[in-house]
Amino acid sequence: MSSMTKRSLVTPLAQDMPQSGIRKFFDYISGREDVISLGIGEPDFTTPRAVREACIRALEQGRTEYTPNAGLLELRESISTYLEDNFRVNYDPVHEMMVTIGSSEALDLALRVLIEEGDEILVPAPCYVSYSPITGLCSGKTVEVETTAANSFKLTAEQLEASITPRSKLLILNYPSNPTGAVMTYEDWLPIAKIVEKYNLFVLSDEIYGELTYGSKHVSFAAMPGMKDRTLLISGFSKAFAMTGWRIGYACGPEEVIAPMLKIHQYTIMCAPILGQIAALESLKPHGIEAKDMMMDSYNSRRQMFVSGLCQAGFPCHEPKGAFYAFPSIAHTGLTSEQFAERLLEETSVLTVPGTAFGKGGEGFIRCSYATSPAKLEVALERMAGFMKQFG
Ligand code: PMP
Repeated sequence: MSSMTKRSLVTPLAQDMPQSGIRKFFDYISGREDVISLGIGEPDFTTPRAVREACIRALEQGRTEYTPNAGLLELRESISTYLEDNFRVNYDPVHEMMVTIGSSEALDLALRVLIEEGDEILVPAPCYVSYSPITGLCSGKTVEVETTAANSFKLTAEQLEASITPRSKLLILNYPSNPTGAVMTYEDWLPIAKIVEKYNLFVLSDEIYGELTYGSKHVSFAAMPGMKDRTLLISGFSKAFAMTGWRIGYACGPEEVIAPMLKIHQYTIMCAPILGQIAALESLKPHGIEAKDMMMDSYNSRRQMFVSGLCQAGFPCHEPKGAFYAFPSIAHTGLTSEQFAERLLEETSVLTVPGTAFGKGGEGFIRCSYATSPAKLEVALERMAGFMKQFG
C-alpha cells in the first residue's frame, strides 16, 4: 500500500472552485438581529396566497408523483403562451422547452452540453456569481467583458468584439442584470446581434429578471431578428413571482441543445418537483400575473426612493432600470469594495455585497438589493449617510 502514490480524493476542478464572495458575508451575520440586509437577491414577498393554496389542494389530492422529464406539458404550454404574450418569443412546448430546478439547473445543464475544454465563454461583467465557476467545472474559460458605469453597464459591440478570439464559443447575457440593474433596449441589442452572427457565437440569455423592468419593456435577446436559433433562453419563477424556494425554472431553445440537456436532466434529476410545477402553473393564471405586476410596482417605488436616497447620501449611482439591485460607486472613499462593505457592516450593521464578488469592473462599487421593506430601506439609508460623513 505504502508504495502506491496517493491520489487526491477531490478533483482539481472541484478543489479550485472559488468560494462565492456573497456567501462569506452571509456567514458573518448569522444570528445578528441588528443587521439590515441589502445583501440577498431574493424578493421579500411570500408567494401569493392563491398559489400556495393551489399547492395545498394538490397535496391533499395526493399529487406526489413524478412528472414527465421535461416537466408537466400543461406548464410548458402555459410558459410558452406567457413568453409569446410578454416577450414575443415563440417556443414549441414539446421540442424546444424543458422545466428545470430553478434557472440554476438550466444554466448548469446548458454549460455542460455547450462547453468543451478550452472554449472561451464571453460574459459582460460585473456579472452574476455562478457563470464563471460552472464554466470552470466544464473546463471552459470565462472571458469577462468589462462594462462601465459611464455607459450604465450596457454591453457595447466594440467591447464585445475586442474580447473575441478563435476560441470564443458562447456569449452569456444577463439583462436585466444582476448586479448592476442594467437593461438593454432593442437598439442596444442590434449591434450585439450583428457581432453574434459575424463570429458565429451561441448565446445563453439568462432573463430571470425579464419581468422586472421599470420604464421600457424587456427585450428578449431571442426575439431579435435571426437570434432565436442562436439563443438558449433561461428564466424561471424565483424572482418576479416571488417563488425562490419552489425551485422552478426553464430553458427554451433549439431542439439540438434542449435534447442533450434533457438527457442529462433525465439521469441526474428526473424531473423538477411536482408541487413546484403546480404552483408555477397557478402563478401564470390571471390572478398570479396581477400579483406579479403588483410586486413589480412595489419594487419600482422602492427603487426610486432608494436610488435617490443613495445619491443624497453621497453615493454616485447610475439609474438601475431593471432587476432589484442598485450598484452605487464607493470609489471616492479610497476604500476597496471589500473594505467598504466590511466596515459598513461592522460600523452600521448594514449588509451590502462588494462589487468585486461580481468580477471585472466591480471594484469601486457595492451591490445593494432593494427587495426589502421600505421601512428597512429608510433606516439603511440613514445609517449609510451617517457612515459616509467621515469621507467628507
Ligand atoms: N441568474 C441570475 C442572474 C440570478 O440572480 C439568479 C439568482 N440569484 C439565478 C440565475 C438563479 O435563480 P433560480 O435558480 O432561483 O432560478
